[in-house]
Amino acid sequence: MTAANYFSATYTEAREKFRTAAKAAGADLISYVNPNKGPDGGELATDVARIGSRDARRLLIGMSATHGAEGFCGSGIQTGWLGEQQFSALPSDTAILLIHAINPFGFAWVRRVNEDNIDLNRNFIDHTKPYPENAGYRELRDFICPQTWDADSAARSNAAFDDYARRHSTIDLQAAIMNGQYWDKEGVFYGGNAPNWSHRTLLAALSPYAATVTHAAFIDLHTGLGPSGYGEIISNHTGPAPGATRVRKWFGAEVTMIDDGSSTSTAVTGDTQIGVDAALPHTQVTGITLEYGTVPVPAMIESVRADNWLHIHGNLDSELGRRIKKQIRDAFYTDERQWKETVFARAVDVLHRSMTGLSKPDLVAA
Ligand SMILES: [Zn+2]
Repeated sequence: MTAANYFSATYTEAREKFRTAAKAAGADLISYVNPNKGPDGGELATDVARIGSRDARRLLIGMSATHGAEGFCGSGIQTGWLGEQQFSALPSDTAILLIHAINPFGFAWVRRVNEDNIDLNRNFIDHTKPYPENAGYRELRDFICPQTWDADSAARSNAAFDDYARRHSTIDLQAAIMNGQYWDKEGVFYGGNAPNWSHRTLLAALSPYAATVTHAAFIDLHTGLGPSGYGEIISNHTGPAPGATRVRKWFGAEVTMIDDGSSTSTAVTGDTQIGVDAALPHTQVTGITLEYGTVPVPAMIESVRADNWLHIHGNLDSELGRRIKKQIRDAFYTDERQWKETVFARAVDVLHRSMTGLSKPDLVAA
C-alpha cells in the first residue's frame, strides 16, 4: 500500500479513514462534535484517539488541522501512523494521543481559519489583557483585505506590498500580514477576542491527562511554508527556554527557531503550544511544529487573502468562488503522490525521534 492512500480528498473521507484506522489499531476514541455542519451537510467533529494506558506518565500528542485546510496533510499522516502500526511497540509508560481535525470547520470548508474567521494558532492568548499591536497590518489592512477581488485591486495591493517591503523588508511584510491581529474580525490572521471552539476543545481533550503525565511531546502538523515537500522542524520554544534545548537535543542541527531568523515562519502570537502548556500545567512539554512546504510564500499568502475575500464579500457558488477554493486547497495541500510519500516518510522519522526523545532518561535534566 502506498502512503498516498492514507490521504483524503475531503474532510468527511479523512475523518472516516482516521476513525477506521484508530479502531483497527485498538485505540480509545472520543469525539467532540462541533455545532456547525460541513459543505456536504455532514457532522463536524474533532476525533481524539489514544493508544496506550490512560495513566501513562509520558504522552506523545500529534495534532492535525490547527489550520483547517492543512488537515489534508496532517490527517493523512495521522491515519498512516495508525495504519502502519507505528505504535505497536510503545516505550514503557508511554501513550499516544492523536487529535484529528482540531479545526474541523476549516478542514471541511477548506479554510485556514475556523467558523468565526479566527486563526486558531493566534487564539491562545490572554484575552483579558491588552492585545499585541501589529502596526504593519494596520497600515496595510485595506490592501491585504480589499473590498473587491480583481486585477485592479490586485495591482493596487501588490504595489503597496512592494512599497512596504522596500521600506522595511520582505520578511517584515510577511510578518505584518501573518503574525496575527486582534481587532479586524473580517481580516486575515485574526486571533479572536475569546477562546474559540477549537481552543476549548484542545483544553478539554488534554485536561484529563494533567494529573498523570509528567513528560509530553507535542507535534503540531502544518503546511504552507518552505520548499515543496520538505518538513521543517520548528521549535515551539524560543530563546533560552528549556524546551528549546530539548528540541535541539531531540532533533539536532536541523531544528529551526522563530526568534533567530532560521525558520521560514515569523514569530506568531497565541499559538497552540500555549494551549498545550495551559492544559498540562505540571507537565514538561517539548513541542514542535512540523511545517511542510507547498507553494512559494507569496502564493500561499495570496490564497489566504483570496479566501478571506470570498467568505466575507464573495459568492462561494460562482466561478470565481470555485477558483479561489481550488487556489487555497492547492496552497496548503499538494495533491500528488510523490509529495504525499515524501511527507509521510518524514513524518514517520519525526515521530520516532520524538518517541525516542520522550523516553530518554536525560530528559529531566534538560
Ligand atoms: Zn499552519
